[in-house]
Amino acid sequence: MNKQKIALVTGGTGGIGTAICIALADQGRKVIAGYFPPEQEIARDWQSRHRSNGYEFEIVACDVSDYESSRKMLHDVENTIGAVDILVNCAGITRDKTLRQMTPEQWDAVLRTNLDSAFNVTRQVVEGMSDNGFGRIVNISSVNGQKGQFGQANYSAAKAGLHGFTKAVAQELATKGVTVNSVSPGYVKTEMTDAIPEEIRDSIIRQVPMGRMALPDEIAYVVSFLTDDRNTYMTGANLPVNGGMYMS
Ligand code: NDP
Repeated sequence: MNKQKIALVTGGTGGIGTAICIALADQGRKVIAGYFPPEQEIARDWQSRHRSNGYEFEIVACDVSDYESSRKMLHDVENTIGAVDILVNCAGITRDKTLRQMTPEQWDAVLRTNLDSAFNVTRQVVEGMSDNGFGRIVNISSVNGQKGQFGQANYSAAKAGLHGFTKAVAQELATKGVTVNSVSPGYVKTEMTDAIPEEIRDSIIRQVPMGRMALPDEIAYVVSFLTDDRNTYMTGANLPVNGGMYMS
């Protein structure tokens, strides 16, 4: 019998991350959710809430914007749980401002959390996946990394950077049984978008041909498709999941 594959989802306790954890567990994976270290109590509550619904998620603390924290997390995961077969880079933040008002701190925070994080975490797993001859890496980008967005020079740049990262690493790992793809959600109903002022949210929804935001499950389903054992020939791809908002 095949061993149960291990999936690590950064930002796993967040809105989209939670749906991804559930989808991967439903697919038979052992799922580890990464959480931001100061949020340990929230992460523990999240874990016990899901345990009572029958999901045995592991949780690990890691600041993905920090290389050493990412290295330590993967080292600990390997020693206590096992080598990661599936990685979903999902942690992310926004710090929206027009460029003329944006501070270097807002630029750095978004680039480090949304883009450097993909290097920091993926760097730790590529060798093991290559040696094992199997791996699935999915980077959660954004429609705004494809089309740009007013007030999001930092976020759009970071998410666009993920596309380049995905395609470069996909080429490096193409002969190793490791696929690397990205998913670009449109607007998804989570705490991140609940924080958008109502009138702006309504104007965004008017731009979506489907006339609504996505549900986290609709993103998670696409991630589980990309990470499926049978999905062996798709690499370096970006799958837009945006209700028709930006067709590419
Ligand atoms: P959430 O804020 O719910 O989830 C993001 C998660 O990332 C949170 O759990 C957060 O932890 C974690 N995180 C933030 N910074 C760090 C860090 N330095 N180290 C470790 N973890 C960190 O947002 P969503 O679920 O909506 O977003 C998930 C991903 O999807 C993000 O990459 C986002 O950019 C992307 N996305 C979201 C869209 C949307 O409409 N919601 C649209 C397109 C893309 P904590 O809460 O403790 O800070």
